[in-house]
Amino acid sequence: MIHYKIGSINPAGHYFDVYLKIEKPSPIGQQLRLPAWIPGSYMIRDFAKNIVEISAKREGEPIEIIQLDKSTWQLEDGSGLVEVFYRVYAWDLSVRTAHLDTTHGFFNGSSVFLEVIGMSEQSCQVEIVKPGLTQCSEWKLATTLSSNSNLNFEFGHFKAENYAELIDHPVEMGCFDQVEFVACSVRHDVVLTGAFNCDYDRLTQDLKKICEHQIEMFGEPAPMSRYLFLVMVVGDGYGGLEHRSSTSLICSRDSLPQPGQSEMTSSYRDFLGLCSHEYFHSWNVKRIKPEVFVNPDLSKEVYTPLLWAFEGITSYYDDLVLVRSGLISTNDYLELLGQTITRVIRGKGRKRQSAAESSFNAWSKFYKQDENAANGIVSYYAKGCLIALCIDLKIRLLTQSKKSLDDVMCLLWKQYQKNGKGVSNNDIQNLVCEVSAADLSDFLNEIIYLTEELPLTALLETVSLKLDFRVSDILNDKGGTDKDDLPLSTLSLVVKTIQSDLKVIAVAEDGAAQQAGLSAGDTILAINGIRATESSYQSWLKLSQPGTKHTVTVFRRDELMSFETVLQQPQQDTAFIGVIDSNSQNLTNWLRQSNEK
Ligand code: ZN
Repeated sequence: MIHYKIGSINPAGHYFDVYLKIEKPSPIGQQLRLPAWIPGSYMIRDFAKNIVEISAKREGEPIEIIQLDKSTWQLEDGSGLVEVFYRVYAWDLSVRTAHLDTTHGFFNGSSVFLEVIGMSEQSCQVEIVKPGLTQCSEWKLATTLSSNSNLNFEFGHFKAENYAELIDHPVEMGCFDQVEFVACSVRHDVVLTGAFNCDYDRLTQDLKKICEHQIEMFGEPAPMSRYLFLVMVVGDGYGGLEHRSSTSLICSRDSLPQPGQSEMTSSYRDFLGLCSHEYFHSWNVKRIKPEVFVNPDLSKEVYTPLLWAFEGITSYYDDLVLVRSGLISTNDYLELLGQTITRVIRGKGRKRQSAAESSFNAWSKFYKQDENAANGIVSYYAKGCLIALCIDLKIRLLTQSKKSLDDVMCLLWKQYQKNGKGVSNNDIQNLVCEVSAADLSDFLNEIIYLTEELPLTALLETVSLKLDFRVSDILNDKGGTDKDDLPLSTLSLVVKTIQSDLKVIAVAEDGAAQQAGLSAGDTILAINGIRATESSYQSWLKLSQPGTKHTVTVFRRDELMSFETVLQQPQQDTAFIGVIDSNSQNLTNWLRQSNEK
Protein backbone atom coordinates (compact mmCIF):
# COMPACT_ATOMS: atom_id res chain seq x y z
CA MET A 1 0.00 0.00 0.00
CA ILE A 2 1.31 3.44 -0.99
CA HIS A 3 0.13 6.45 1.02
CA TYR A 4 -0.24 9.97 -0.33
CA LYS A 5 -1.42 13.10 1.39
CA ILE A 6 -2.07 16.27 -0.58
CA GLY A 7 -2.96 19.74 0.62
CA SER A 8 -1.68 23.27 0.32
CA ILE A 9 0.02 25.56 2.78
CA ASN A 10 0.15 28.34 0.21
CA PRO A 11 -2.74 28.27 -2.30
CA ALA A 12 -2.05 31.90 -3.28
CA GLY A 13 1.42 30.80 -4.41
CA HIS A 14 -0.29 28.04 -6.45
CA TYR A 15 1.52 25.25 -4.61
CA PHE A 16 0.21 21.80 -3.77
CA ASP A 17 2.17 20.11 -0.97
CA VAL A 18 2.41 16.36 -1.33
CA TYR A 19 3.51 13.78 1.21
CA LEU A 20 4.30 10.26 0.03
CA LYS A 21 4.86 7.35 2.41
CA ILE A 22 6.35 4.07 1.19
CA GLU A 23 6.43 1.36 3.85
CA LYS A 24 8.68 -1.07 2.02
CA PRO A 25 10.66 0.75 -0.64
CA SER A 26 13.21 -1.17 -2.65
CA PRO A 27 16.37 -1.15 -0.50
CA ILE A 28 18.42 -0.53 -3.65
CA GLY A 29 17.72 2.54 -5.72
CA GLN A 30 13.97 3.00 -5.25
CA GLN A 31 12.85 5.28 -8.06
CA LEU A 32 9.95 7.74 -8.17
CA ARG A 33 8.61 9.26 -11.36
CA LEU A 34 5.94 11.66 -12.60
CA PRO A 35 4.33 10.95 -16.01
CA ALA A 36 5.51 12.95 -19.02
CA TRP A 37 2.03 12.84 -20.58
CA ILE A 38 -1.56 12.26 -19.55
CA PRO A 39 -3.69 9.64 -21.31
CA GLY A 40 -6.16 11.29 -23.68
CA SER A 41 -3.83 14.17 -24.56
CA TYR A 42 -1.07 12.97 -26.84
CA MET A 43 1.74 15.40 -26.17
CA ILE A 44 4.83 15.26 -23.97
CA ARG A 45 4.21 17.79 -21.21
CA ASP A 46 6.84 16.82 -18.62
CA PHE A 47 4.65 17.44 -15.57
CA ALA A 48 7.67 17.02 -13.27
CA LYS A 49 8.91 20.43 -14.37
CA ASN A 50 6.42 21.82 -11.85
CA ILE A 51 8.05 20.10 -8.87
CA VAL A 52 9.90 22.99 -7.26
CA GLU A 53 11.33 21.16 -4.25
CA ILE A 54 11.63 17.58 -3.06
CA SER A 55 13.18 15.89 -0.02
CA ALA A 56 13.01 12.50 1.73
CA LYS A 57 13.42 10.89 5.16
CA ARG A 58 13.97 7.30 6.21
CA GLU A 59 12.75 6.40 9.69
CA GLY A 60 12.61 10.12 10.37
CA GLU A 61 16.20 10.89 9.26
CA PRO A 62 16.88 12.91 6.07
CA ILE A 63 18.24 10.83 3.18
CA GLU A 64 19.57 11.72 -0.20
CA ILE A 65 17.21 11.88 -3.18
CA ILE A 66 18.95 12.17 -6.54
CA GLN A 67 17.33 13.36 -9.73
CA LEU A 68 18.05 10.93 -12.59
CA ASP A 69 16.30 12.68 -15.46
CA LYS A 70 13.59 15.28 -16.14
CA SER A 71 10.91 13.15 -14.43
CA THR A 72 12.67 10.60 -12.21
CA TRP A 73 14.22 10.66 -8.72
CA GLN A 74 16.08 7.92 -6.84
CA LEU A 75 16.16 7.38 -3.09
CA GLU A 76 19.36 6.64 -1.21
CA ASP A 77 19.86 2.88 -0.71
CA GLY A 78 18.62 1.42 2.56
CA SER A 79 15.67 -0.33 4.10
CA GLY A 80 12.81 0.97 6.19
CA LEU A 81 9.86 3.30 5.88
CA VAL A 82 10.46 6.31 3.65
CA GLU A 83 8.60 9.60 3.55
CA VAL A 84 8.96 11.98 0.61
CA PHE A 85 7.84 15.62 0.64
CA TYR A 86 7.49 17.70 -2.47
CA ARG A 87 5.86 20.86 -3.67
CA VAL A 88 4.11 21.19 -7.06
CA TYR A 89 3.45 24.47 -8.82
CA ALA A 90 -0.14 24.45 -10.12
CA TRP A 91 -1.09 27.37 -12.32
CA ASP A 92 -2.26 25.94 -15.64
CA LEU A 93 -5.97 26.46 -16.20
CA SER A 94 -6.44 23.49 -18.51
CA VAL A 95 -8.05 20.08 -18.15
CA ARG A 96 -4.64 18.41 -18.42
CA THR A 97 -2.62 19.56 -15.42
CA ALA A 98 -3.35 21.36 -12.14
CA HIS A 99 -4.56 24.78 -11.01
CA LEU A 100 -4.76 26.29 -7.55
CA ASP A 101 -5.49 29.66 -5.99
CA THR A 102 -7.55 30.91 -3.06
CA THR A 103 -10.80 30.46 -5.07
CA HIS A 104 -10.47 26.80 -6.11
CA GLY A 105 -8.11 23.92 -6.74
CA PHE A 106 -7.98 21.31 -9.48
CA PHE A 107 -5.54 18.54 -10.18
CA ASN A 108 -5.00 15.47 -12.30
CA GLY A 109 -3.12 12.77 -10.41
CA SER A 110 -0.54 12.69 -13.21
CA SER A 111 0.55 16.19 -12.16
CA VAL A 112 0.89 15.52 -8.43
CA PHE A 113 1.33 11.83 -7.54
CA LEU A 114 4.82 10.42 -8.01
CA GLU A 115 4.71 6.82 -9.21
CA VAL A 116 6.68 4.40 -7.01
CA ILE A 117 8.44 2.45 -9.74
CA GLY A 118 7.98 -1.30 -9.37
CA MET A 119 4.94 -0.86 -7.15
CA SER A 120 2.46 0.48 -9.70
CA GLU A 121 0.09 -2.43 -9.09
CA GLN A 122 -0.10 -1.79 -5.35
CA SER A 123 -3.18 -0.13 -3.96
CA CYS A 124 -2.92 3.51 -2.98
CA GLN A 125 -4.47 5.59 -0.22
CA VAL A 126 -4.82 9.32 -0.55
CA GLU A 127 -5.75 11.85 2.05
CA ILE A 128 -6.87 15.15 0.54
CA VAL A 129 -6.68 18.00 3.04
CA LYS A 130 -8.56 21.29 2.86
CA PRO A 131 -6.20 24.30 2.81
CA GLY A 132 -6.19 26.00 6.21
CA LEU A 133 -6.84 29.55 4.98
CA THR A 134 -10.11 31.17 6.04
CA GLN A 135 -10.95 31.84 2.37
CA CYS A 136 -11.01 28.06 1.89
CA SER A 137 -13.10 27.19 4.95
CA GLU A 138 -16.29 26.53 2.92
CA TRP A 139 -14.54 24.43 0.28
CA LYS A 140 -15.99 21.13 -0.86
CA LEU A 141 -14.35 18.41 -2.90
CA ALA A 142 -15.48 16.53 -6.01
CA THR A 143 -13.86 13.43 -7.45
CA THR A 144 -14.78 9.86 -8.41
CA LEU A 145 -11.86 8.44 -6.44
CA SER A 146 -13.46 5.88 -4.22
CA SER A 147 -14.30 6.90 -0.68
CA ASN A 148 -16.99 6.10 1.85
CA SER A 149 -17.91 9.72 2.29
CA ASN A 150 -17.34 10.62 -1.37
CA LEU A 151 -20.93 11.48 -2.20
CA ASN A 152 -20.94 14.09 0.52
CA PHE A 153 -18.35 16.11 -1.38
CA GLU A 154 -16.05 16.22 1.63
CA PHE A 155 -12.30 16.22 2.03
CA GLY A 156 -10.89 13.05 3.54
CA HIS A 157 -9.50 9.64 2.63
CA PHE A 158 -9.71 8.04 -0.79
CA LYS A 159 -8.31 4.90 -2.36
CA ALA A 160 -7.33 3.43 -5.71
CA GLU A 161 -6.54 -0.15 -6.74
CA ASN A 162 -3.33 0.85 -8.50
CA TYR A 163 -1.40 3.80 -9.86
CA ALA A 164 -3.26 3.85 -13.20
CA GLU A 165 -6.55 4.25 -11.34
CA LEU A 166 -5.08 6.82 -8.96
CA ILE A 167 -4.26 9.19 -11.80
CA ASP A 168 -7.52 8.65 -13.69
CA HIS A 169 -9.80 10.57 -11.29
CA PRO A 170 -9.30 14.34 -11.44
CA VAL A 171 -10.12 16.31 -8.30
CA GLU A 172 -11.86 19.68 -7.98
CA MET A 173 -12.04 21.62 -4.71
CA GLY A 174 -13.72 24.93 -3.96
CA CYS A 175 -17.19 26.45 -3.55
CA PHE A 176 -18.64 24.90 -6.68
CA ASP A 177 -22.27 24.36 -7.68
CA GLN A 178 -23.39 20.75 -7.83
CA VAL A 179 -26.43 19.14 -9.46
CA GLU A 180 -27.26 15.50 -10.06
CA PHE A 181 -29.38 13.20 -12.17
CA VAL A 182 -29.80 9.48 -12.63
CA ALA A 183 -29.28 7.82 -16.02
CA CYS A 184 -30.02 4.07 -16.32
CA SER A 185 -29.78 3.75 -12.51
CA VAL A 186 -26.34 5.37 -12.39
CA ARG A 187 -25.89 8.53 -10.37
CA HIS A 188 -24.37 11.39 -12.38
CA ASP A 189 -23.13 14.61 -10.81
CA VAL A 190 -22.33 17.87 -12.53
CA VAL A 191 -19.95 20.16 -10.64
CA LEU A 192 -19.46 23.68 -12.00
CA THR A 193 -16.78 26.14 -10.92
CA GLY A 194 -16.56 29.80 -11.93
CA ALA A 195 -18.77 32.89 -12.31
CA PHE A 196 -21.84 32.06 -14.41
CA ASN A 197 -25.61 31.56 -14.63
CA CYS A 198 -27.14 28.24 -15.58
CA ASP A 199 -30.57 26.67 -16.02
CA TYR A 200 -29.75 23.51 -14.09
CA ASP A 201 -33.04 21.75 -14.84
CA ARG A 202 -32.48 22.06 -18.55
CA LEU A 203 -28.82 21.07 -18.30
CA THR A 204 -29.48 17.91 -16.28
CA GLN A 205 -32.46 16.89 -18.44
CA ASP A 206 -30.37 17.24 -21.59
CA LEU A 207 -27.33 15.44 -20.18
CA LYS A 208 -29.56 12.63 -18.94
CA LYS A 209 -30.83 12.04 -22.48
CA ILE A 210 -27.27 11.90 -23.82
CA CYS A 211 -26.04 9.51 -21.13
CA GLU A 212 -29.07 7.20 -21.34
CA HIS A 213 -28.82 7.05 -25.10
CA GLN A 214 -25.17 6.01 -24.95
CA ILE A 215 -25.64 3.47 -22.14
CA GLU A 216 -28.55 1.92 -24.04
CA MET A 217 -26.56 1.83 -27.25
CA PHE A 218 -23.77 -0.23 -25.67
CA GLY A 219 -26.20 -2.11 -23.42
CA GLU A 220 -26.78 -1.94 -19.68
CA PRO A 221 -25.21 -1.98 -17.21
CA ALA A 222 -23.15 1.17 -17.68
CA PRO A 223 -19.40 0.66 -17.32
CA MET A 224 -19.18 2.92 -14.26
CA SER A 225 -21.11 2.91 -10.97
CA ARG A 226 -21.21 6.72 -10.82
CA TYR A 227 -20.10 9.53 -13.13
CA LEU A 228 -18.94 13.09 -12.63
CA PHE A 229 -18.84 16.02 -15.07
CA LEU A 230 -16.29 18.51 -13.69
CA VAL A 231 -16.86 21.82 -15.45
CA MET A 232 -14.64 24.90 -15.20
CA VAL A 233 -16.59 27.89 -16.54
CA VAL A 234 -14.53 30.79 -17.91
CA GLY A 235 -15.05 33.79 -20.20
CA ASP A 236 -13.64 32.09 -23.24
CA GLY A 237 -12.55 28.47 -23.32
CA TYR A 238 -13.34 25.05 -24.71
CA GLY A 239 -11.89 21.64 -24.02
CA GLY A 240 -12.33 18.31 -22.34
CA LEU A 241 -10.43 15.28 -21.15
CA GLU A 242 -11.94 11.85 -20.64
CA HIS A 243 -11.49 9.63 -17.58
CA ARG A 244 -12.87 6.23 -16.59
CA SER A 245 -15.78 7.60 -14.57
CA SER A 246 -15.53 11.35 -14.96
CA THR A 247 -14.52 14.08 -17.35
CA SER A 248 -12.89 17.48 -16.89
CA LEU A 249 -14.32 20.20 -19.08
CA ILE A 250 -13.61 23.86 -19.70
CA CYS A 251 -16.34 25.94 -21.30
CA SER A 252 -17.24 29.58 -21.79
CA ARG A 253 -20.08 30.92 -19.64
CA ASP A 254 -22.25 31.75 -22.65
CA SER A 255 -22.26 28.07 -23.63
CA LEU A 256 -24.37 27.14 -20.58
CA PRO A 257 -28.17 27.26 -20.90
CA GLN A 258 -29.37 30.53 -19.40
CA PRO A 259 -32.39 30.72 -17.08
CA GLY A 260 -35.48 31.67 -19.10
CA GLN A 261 -33.87 30.78 -22.41
CA SER A 262 -35.29 27.84 -24.33
CA GLU A 263 -33.72 27.93 -27.79
CA MET A 264 -30.73 25.77 -28.68
CA THR A 265 -27.89 28.24 -29.19
CA SER A 266 -24.91 27.08 -31.21
CA SER A 267 -22.64 27.52 -28.17
CA TYR A 268 -24.88 25.34 -25.94
CA ARG A 269 -25.08 22.81 -28.78
CA ASP A 270 -21.27 22.76 -28.86
CA PHE A 271 -21.15 22.29 -25.08
CA LEU A 272 -23.58 19.35 -25.21
CA GLY A 273 -21.50 17.92 -28.07
CA LEU A 274 -18.40 18.17 -25.87
CA CYS A 275 -20.15 16.41 -22.95
CA SER A 276 -21.42 13.74 -25.35
CA HIS A 277 -17.90 13.30 -26.76
CA GLU A 278 -16.19 12.81 -23.41
CA TYR A 279 -18.96 10.52 -22.16
CA PHE A 280 -18.65 8.31 -25.27
CA HIS A 281 -14.97 7.90 -24.40
CA SER A 282 -16.11 6.01 -21.28
CA TRP A 283 -16.40 3.09 -23.69
CA ASN A 284 -14.29 4.12 -26.67
CA VAL A 285 -10.69 4.67 -25.46
CA LYS A 286 -11.10 4.40 -21.69
CA ARG A 287 -12.05 0.72 -21.98
CA ILE A 288 -12.04 -0.31 -25.64
CA LYS A 289 -8.52 0.94 -26.45
CA PRO A 290 -5.52 0.29 -28.69
CA GLU A 291 -3.28 -2.55 -27.44
CA VAL A 292 -0.46 -0.06 -26.88
CA PHE A 293 -2.65 1.97 -24.50
CA VAL A 294 -3.44 -0.95 -22.18
CA ASN A 295 -0.34 -0.40 -20.05
CA PRO A 296 1.13 2.68 -21.66
CA ASP A 297 4.62 3.93 -20.86
CA LEU A 298 3.85 7.41 -19.55
CA SER A 299 7.48 8.48 -19.76
CA LYS A 300 7.54 8.70 -23.55
CA GLU A 301 5.38 8.83 -26.68
CA VAL A 302 3.20 5.78 -27.36
CA TYR A 303 2.43 5.53 -31.07
CA THR A 304 -0.74 4.16 -32.64
CA PRO A 305 -2.31 4.54 -36.10
CA LEU A 306 -5.74 4.13 -34.48
CA LEU A 307 -6.60 7.57 -33.09
CA TRP A 308 -8.86 8.06 -36.15
CA ALA A 309 -11.04 5.36 -34.54
CA PHE A 310 -10.79 6.42 -30.91
CA GLU A 311 -11.16 10.14 -31.53
CA GLY A 312 -12.86 10.01 -34.94
CA ILE A 313 -15.58 7.47 -34.11
CA THR A 314 -16.12 9.34 -30.84
CA SER A 315 -16.42 12.61 -32.78
CA TYR A 316 -18.92 10.94 -35.12
CA TYR A 317 -21.15 9.78 -32.28
CA ASP A 318 -20.91 12.94 -30.15
CA ASP A 319 -23.23 14.98 -32.40
CA LEU A 320 -25.11 11.96 -33.76
CA VAL A 321 -26.25 11.18 -30.21
CA LEU A 322 -27.60 14.76 -29.91
CA VAL A 323 -29.87 14.34 -32.95
CA ARG A 324 -30.82 10.75 -32.11
CA SER A 325 -31.86 11.71 -28.61
CA GLY A 326 -33.93 14.63 -29.91
CA LEU A 327 -31.78 17.46 -28.52
CA ILE A 328 -31.02 18.99 -31.90
CA SER A 329 -32.91 18.98 -35.19
CA THR A 330 -31.91 17.11 -38.34
CA ASN A 331 -31.00 20.45 -39.93
CA ASP A 332 -28.75 21.32 -36.99
CA TYR A 333 -27.04 17.97 -37.29
CA LEU A 334 -26.52 18.33 -41.03
CA GLU A 335 -25.03 21.78 -40.43
CA LEU A 336 -22.50 20.30 -37.97
CA LEU A 337 -21.66 17.51 -40.39
CA GLY A 338 -21.22 20.04 -43.21
CA GLN A 339 -18.79 21.94 -40.99
CA THR A 340 -16.74 18.79 -40.36
CA ILE A 341 -16.59 18.06 -44.09
CA THR A 342 -15.51 21.69 -44.68
CA ARG A 343 -12.72 21.36 -42.10
CA VAL A 344 -11.30 18.34 -43.89
CA ILE A 345 -11.55 19.48 -47.48
CA ARG A 346 -10.23 23.01 -46.97
CA GLY A 347 -6.65 21.95 -46.43
CA LYS A 348 -4.19 20.41 -48.83
CA GLY A 349 -2.97 18.37 -45.85
CA ARG A 350 -5.65 15.78 -46.56
CA LYS A 351 -3.79 14.89 -49.76
CA ARG A 352 -0.53 14.42 -47.87
CA GLN A 353 -1.52 12.59 -44.72
CA SER A 354 -3.91 9.69 -44.24
CA ALA A 355 -6.04 9.40 -41.10
CA ALA A 356 -3.74 6.60 -39.89
CA GLU A 357 -0.63 8.74 -40.45
CA SER A 358 -2.28 11.67 -38.71
CA SER A 359 -2.98 9.41 -35.72
CA PHE A 360 0.57 8.11 -35.61
CA ASN A 361 2.06 11.59 -35.72
CA ALA A 362 -0.33 13.13 -33.18
CA TRP A 363 2.53 13.79 -30.76
CA SER A 364 4.63 15.93 -33.05
CA LYS A 365 2.15 17.19 -35.65
CA PHE A 366 -1.52 17.39 -34.62
CA TYR A 367 -0.65 18.53 -31.08
CA LYS A 368 2.05 20.89 -32.30
CA GLN A 369 0.30 22.64 -35.15
CA ASP A 370 1.88 25.65 -36.75
CA GLU A 371 0.74 28.08 -39.43
CA ASN A 372 1.31 25.45 -42.13
CA ALA A 373 -0.97 22.83 -40.52
CA ALA A 374 -3.78 23.08 -43.10
CA ASN A 375 -1.25 22.47 -45.88
CA GLY A 376 0.61 19.68 -44.12
CA ILE A 377 -1.74 17.58 -42.01
CA VAL A 378 -5.30 16.33 -41.69
CA SER A 379 -7.15 16.09 -38.37
CA TYR A 380 -7.73 12.51 -37.19
CA TYR A 381 -10.75 13.91 -35.33
CA ALA A 382 -12.45 15.45 -38.36
CA LYS A 383 -11.35 12.92 -40.98
CA GLY A 384 -11.88 10.08 -38.48
CA CYS A 385 -15.44 11.34 -37.97
CA LEU A 386 -16.03 11.24 -41.74
CA ILE A 387 -14.48 7.77 -42.00
CA ALA A 388 -16.89 6.61 -39.29
CA LEU A 389 -19.76 8.19 -41.27
CA CYS A 390 -18.64 6.36 -44.44
CA ILE A 391 -18.37 3.04 -42.57
CA ASP A 392 -21.77 3.51 -40.94
CA LEU A 393 -23.53 4.38 -44.19
CA LYS A 394 -21.73 1.58 -46.05
CA ILE A 395 -22.83 -1.05 -43.53
CA ARG A 396 -26.40 0.29 -43.62
CA LEU A 397 -26.39 0.16 -47.42
CA LEU A 398 -25.07 -3.41 -47.56
CA THR A 399 -27.43 -4.74 -44.88
CA GLN A 400 -30.59 -2.83 -45.87
CA SER A 401 -30.32 -0.85 -42.62
CA LYS A 402 -30.37 -4.01 -40.50
CA LYS A 403 -26.84 -3.37 -39.22
CA SER A 404 -24.73 -0.31 -38.59
CA LEU A 405 -21.57 1.01 -36.97
CA ASP A 406 -23.49 0.69 -33.67
CA ASP A 407 -23.19 -3.08 -34.05
CA VAL A 408 -19.43 -2.81 -34.59
CA MET A 409 -19.09 -0.69 -31.44
CA CYS A 410 -21.20 -3.15 -29.45
CA LEU A 411 -19.06 -6.07 -30.65
CA LEU A 412 -15.90 -4.19 -29.64
CA TRP A 413 -17.49 -3.58 -26.24
CA LYS A 414 -18.43 -7.27 -25.86
CA GLN A 415 -14.88 -8.30 -26.74
CA TYR A 416 -13.52 -5.92 -24.14
CA GLN A 417 -15.93 -7.22 -21.50
CA LYS A 418 -14.90 -10.78 -22.33
CA ASN A 419 -11.13 -10.44 -22.24
CA GLY A 420 -10.16 -6.83 -21.46
CA LYS A 421 -7.66 -6.95 -24.30
CA GLY A 422 -6.63 -4.01 -26.41
CA VAL A 423 -7.67 -3.49 -30.01
CA SER A 424 -5.08 -4.46 -32.62
CA ASN A 425 -4.62 -2.47 -35.82
CA ASN A 426 -6.96 -4.66 -37.91
CA ASP A 427 -9.65 -5.53 -35.36
CA ILE A 428 -12.04 -2.75 -36.32
CA GLN A 429 -11.74 -3.45 -40.05
CA ASN A 430 -12.37 -7.16 -39.42
CA LEU A 431 -15.47 -6.42 -37.36
CA VAL A 432 -16.81 -4.04 -40.02
CA CYS A 433 -16.48 -6.87 -42.58
CA GLU A 434 -18.13 -9.32 -40.18
CA VAL A 435 -21.09 -7.05 -39.40
CA SER A 436 -21.68 -6.14 -43.04
CA ALA A 437 -21.08 -9.74 -44.20
CA ALA A 438 -18.92 -8.40 -47.01
CA ASP A 439 -15.22 -8.10 -47.78
CA LEU A 440 -14.72 -4.37 -47.35
CA SER A 441 -10.94 -4.49 -46.93
CA ASP A 442 -10.15 -2.45 -50.06
CA PHE A 443 -12.77 0.15 -49.16
CA LEU A 444 -11.49 0.39 -45.57
CA ASN A 445 -7.82 0.49 -46.51
CA GLU A 446 -8.49 3.29 -48.92
CA ILE A 447 -10.39 5.52 -46.50
CA ILE A 448 -8.13 4.87 -43.50
CA TYR A 449 -4.64 4.41 -44.95
CA LEU A 450 -4.75 6.44 -48.18
CA THR A 451 -5.35 10.06 -49.05
CA GLU A 452 -8.05 9.68 -51.74
CA GLU A 453 -11.18 11.78 -51.35
CA LEU A 454 -13.80 10.01 -49.23
CA PRO A 455 -16.89 8.74 -51.12
CA LEU A 456 -19.14 11.12 -49.16
CA THR A 457 -21.39 12.30 -51.99
CA ALA A 458 -22.39 8.78 -53.01
CA LEU A 459 -22.83 7.49 -49.47
CA LEU A 460 -24.88 10.49 -48.30
CA GLU A 461 -27.17 9.91 -51.29
CA THR A 462 -28.02 6.48 -49.90
CA VAL A 463 -29.73 8.25 -46.98
CA SER A 464 -31.40 10.77 -49.26
CA LEU A 465 -28.96 13.61 -48.63
CA LYS A 466 -27.26 15.84 -51.16
CA LEU A 467 -23.76 17.10 -50.47
CA ASP A 468 -23.15 20.51 -52.05
CA PHE A 469 -20.18 22.82 -52.18
CA ARG A 470 -19.86 26.57 -52.50
CA VAL A 471 -17.05 29.09 -52.20
CA SER A 472 -16.07 30.27 -48.77
CA ASP A 473 -16.98 33.65 -47.37
CA ILE A 474 -14.02 35.80 -46.36
CA LEU A 475 -14.14 35.72 -42.57
CA ASN A 476 -15.37 33.13 -40.05
CA ASP A 477 -17.12 30.86 -42.51
CA LYS A 478 -17.21 27.37 -41.01
CA GLY A 479 -19.54 26.04 -43.69
CA GLY A 480 -22.52 23.76 -43.07
CA THR A 481 -25.10 26.14 -44.55
CA ASP A 482 -25.75 27.71 -47.93
CA LYS A 483 -24.93 31.39 -48.25
CA ASP A 484 -25.42 34.34 -50.62
CA ASP A 485 -23.30 37.36 -51.42
CA LEU A 486 -20.06 35.44 -51.63
CA PRO A 487 -16.76 36.93 -52.81
CA LEU A 488 -15.82 36.96 -56.47
CA SER A 489 -12.13 36.48 -55.71
CA THR A 490 -9.76 35.09 -53.15
CA LEU A 491 -6.26 35.72 -51.92
CA SER A 492 -6.19 32.18 -50.41
CA LEU A 493 -5.16 33.17 -46.95
CA VAL A 494 -6.71 33.35 -43.51
CA VAL A 495 -6.74 36.75 -41.80
CA LYS A 496 -7.78 37.79 -38.33
CA THR A 497 -7.90 41.17 -36.62
CA ILE A 498 -5.60 41.03 -33.62
CA GLN A 499 -5.39 44.22 -31.53
CA SER A 500 -6.63 46.23 -34.55
CA ASP A 501 -3.94 44.70 -36.81
CA LEU A 502 -5.10 42.71 -39.84
CA LYS A 503 -2.87 39.65 -39.36
CA VAL A 504 -2.23 36.86 -41.84
CA ILE A 505 -2.80 33.65 -39.86
CA ALA A 506 -2.23 31.04 -42.58
CA VAL A 507 -1.47 30.96 -46.28
CA ALA A 508 -2.86 28.24 -48.55
CA GLU A 509 -0.26 26.39 -50.58
CA ASP A 510 -0.13 27.53 -54.24
CA GLY A 511 -2.79 30.17 -53.60
CA ALA A 512 -2.65 33.78 -54.78
CA ALA A 513 -1.09 35.04 -51.55
CA GLN A 514 1.68 32.47 -51.55
CA GLN A 515 2.42 33.04 -55.23
CA ALA A 516 2.77 36.75 -54.52
CA GLY A 517 5.10 36.12 -51.56
CA LEU A 518 2.78 36.92 -48.65
CA SER A 519 3.38 34.94 -45.51
CA ALA A 520 1.75 33.93 -42.23
CA GLY A 521 2.59 36.52 -39.59
CA ASP A 522 2.47 39.47 -42.01
CA THR A 523 0.37 42.47 -40.94
CA ILE A 524 -1.63 43.80 -43.88
CA LEU A 525 -1.44 47.60 -43.88
CA ALA A 526 -2.78 48.68 -47.25
CA ILE A 527 -4.31 47.36 -50.44
CA ASN A 528 -3.62 49.41 -53.56
CA GLY A 529 -2.29 52.18 -51.33
CA ILE A 530 -5.44 52.43 -49.20
CA ARG A 531 -5.40 51.53 -45.52
CA ALA A 532 -6.68 47.98 -45.00
CA THR A 533 -9.28 47.12 -42.37
CA GLU A 534 -11.34 44.00 -41.93
CA SER A 535 -14.28 45.58 -43.73
CA SER A 536 -12.28 47.15 -46.58
CA TYR A 537 -10.53 43.80 -47.04
CA GLN A 538 -13.91 42.08 -47.30
CA SER A 539 -15.46 44.48 -49.77
CA TRP A 540 -12.29 44.38 -51.88
CA LEU A 541 -12.58 40.59 -52.36
CA LYS A 542 -16.37 40.72 -52.75
CA LEU A 543 -16.10 43.07 -55.72
CA SER A 544 -12.75 42.43 -57.44
CA GLN A 545 -12.60 40.13 -60.44
CA PRO A 546 -10.35 37.04 -60.51
CA GLY A 547 -7.21 37.67 -62.55
CA THR A 548 -6.95 41.35 -61.61
CA LYS A 549 -3.68 42.66 -60.13
CA HIS A 550 -3.38 44.45 -56.79
CA THR A 551 -0.63 45.71 -54.50
CA VAL A 552 -0.70 44.47 -50.92
CA THR A 553 1.53 46.33 -48.46
CA VAL A 554 2.49 44.63 -45.22
CA PHE A 555 4.81 44.72 -42.27
CA ARG A 556 6.87 41.55 -42.04
CA ARG A 557 8.45 41.80 -38.63
CA ASP A 558 9.22 45.55 -38.60
CA GLU A 559 10.03 45.82 -42.31
CA LEU A 560 7.67 47.41 -44.81
CA MET A 561 7.12 45.29 -47.93
CA SER A 562 4.83 45.37 -50.94
CA PHE A 563 3.64 42.39 -52.96
CA GLU A 564 1.97 42.28 -56.38
CA THR A 565 -0.93 39.83 -56.19
CA VAL A 566 -3.15 38.32 -58.86
CA LEU A 567 -6.52 37.41 -57.37
CA GLN A 568 -7.86 33.92 -57.97
CA GLN A 569 -11.26 32.36 -58.45
CA PRO A 570 -12.25 30.91 -55.04
CA GLN A 571 -12.46 27.14 -54.76
CA GLN A 572 -15.65 25.29 -53.91
CA ASP A 573 -14.27 24.24 -50.55
CA THR A 574 -17.24 24.82 -48.26
CA ALA A 575 -19.73 22.02 -47.73
CA PHE A 576 -23.43 21.99 -46.89
CA ILE A 577 -25.93 19.17 -46.94
CA GLY A 578 -29.51 19.24 -48.15
CA VAL A 579 -32.31 16.72 -47.67
CA ILE A 580 -33.59 15.13 -50.90
CA ASP A 581 -36.54 13.31 -49.33
CA SER A 582 -37.35 14.00 -45.69
CA ASN A 583 -39.60 10.92 -45.60
CA SER A 584 -36.75 8.63 -46.61
CA GLN A 585 -36.81 5.50 -44.47
CA ASN A 586 -33.02 5.21 -44.66
CA LEU A 587 -32.62 8.74 -43.32
CA THR A 588 -35.05 8.04 -40.48
CA ASN A 589 -33.34 4.76 -39.65
CA TRP A 590 -29.99 6.50 -39.45
CA LEU A 591 -30.88 9.62 -37.45
CA ARG A 592 -33.81 8.47 -35.37
CA GLN A 593 -32.68 5.00 -34.49
CA SER A 594 -33.80 3.99 -31.02
CA ASN A 595 -31.35 1.43 -29.81
CA GLU A 596 -33.01 -1.74 -28.73
CA LYS A 597 -29.87 -3.79 -28.28
ZN1 ZN B 1 -11.80 12.84 -27.54
